[in-house]
Amino acid sequence: MSIFRKYIAVDLGTANTLVHIPQQGIVMNAPSMVAVESRTRRVLALGADAKAFLGKTPRGIEVIRPMKDGVIADFDMAGELLRHVLRLTIGSTRTKPDVLVCVPLHISNVERRAVTEAAVMAGAHEVRLIAEPVAGAIGAGLSVHEPSGYMIVDIGGGTTDIAVISMGELVESRCLRLAGDALTLETQQFIQEKFGLIIGENMAERVKIATGALTPQPEPLAMTVAGKDSLSGEPRTIRITDEDLRAPLSNAAQPILATAVSVLETIPPEIGGDLLGNGILLTGGGALLRGFPELLSQNTHLPVRLDSEPLTTVLRGAARVVESPEEYKTMLMPL
Ligand code: ADP
Ligand code: MG
Repeated sequence: MSIFRKYIAVDLGTANTLVHIPQQGIVMNAPSMVAVESRTRRVLALGADAKAFLGKTPRGIEVIRPMKDGVIADFDMAGELLRHVLRLTIGSTRTKPDVLVCVPLHISNVERRAVTEAAVMAGAHEVRLIAEPVAGAIGAGLSVHEPSGYMIVDIGGGTTDIAVISMGELVESRCLRLAGDALTLETQQFIQEKFGLIIGENMAERVKIATGALTPQPEPLAMTVAGKDSLSGEPRTIRITDEDLRAPLSNAAQPILATAVSVLETIPPEIGGDLLGNGILLTGGGALLRGFPELLSQNTHLPVRLDSEPLTTVLRGAARVVESPEEYKTMLMPL
């Protein structure tokens, strides 16, 4: 690795793509979405600009999410996102950067090759991979080199990834195809069923973030929601509170808690003992839903710590690896 070559970190998530460049910090943090002209597949917008199209696309335009369940679902469009990332990076130097990409633990060899190939085609020099929970643990400042067990629960957009690691090695893991986006969908469906109001996905996400809570809140949270009456089709508004959403969101989130408990049941007793002290690290945007840390702690009887910035934990960990490659080289995924 040349000292003149840039080495950047990329978290190509199902919901959000984040990029860190040494000395510059986080240069991109945007939805993993591409808006294209359906007929020609010509790219019209990326990131937040593409997300703004959701539910408002005129005929002939579609919004594509190239990542599904943490892996590439649309190779060409994932390539478009990565090309955008590399354009941001290369700037005027025109030297291809090395790229560290965060990938799910459960990634297959084929999926691993797809990520590597897409990054190389987009203009990466060398591609290295790191498992997201390992990057998350590093990003949160856990002592990943020590022989002590840590549990990480990452609630992203499409998947919840639960891992128990010790010395950067995996002890146990589970991936559940249910996370933040499923809770958005639940919000959307509930508002339609209970209030007869049809709302778009972006609005549903805003309601979830503004008022959603799994536990009773000290102060009531409320929001006025605009949509279309499901019978008359006319525009109207309703008022939604945290109380309204609590039961549907709690039911939808239940499998996440149950899976965390089931992982604990399978780990060796020594590691279980470590967890009593180390607790559980909670990361990912989905973990920001109010009440998740408390409920996870109640269900597992372990202390739970929500990272200070759960949407960027994984990327910040990858950024540390990029800045001290020697220190963390054993933590990379074998190619
Ligand atoms: P990924 O790594 O899969 O791209 P992220 O970690 O970026 O996912 O998390 C995206 C998910 O987090 C989305 O489902 C989004 O709705 C949810 N999210 C973001 N902020 C909040 C919040 N404040 N409250 C609840 N959910 C949130
Ligand atoms: Mg993620």
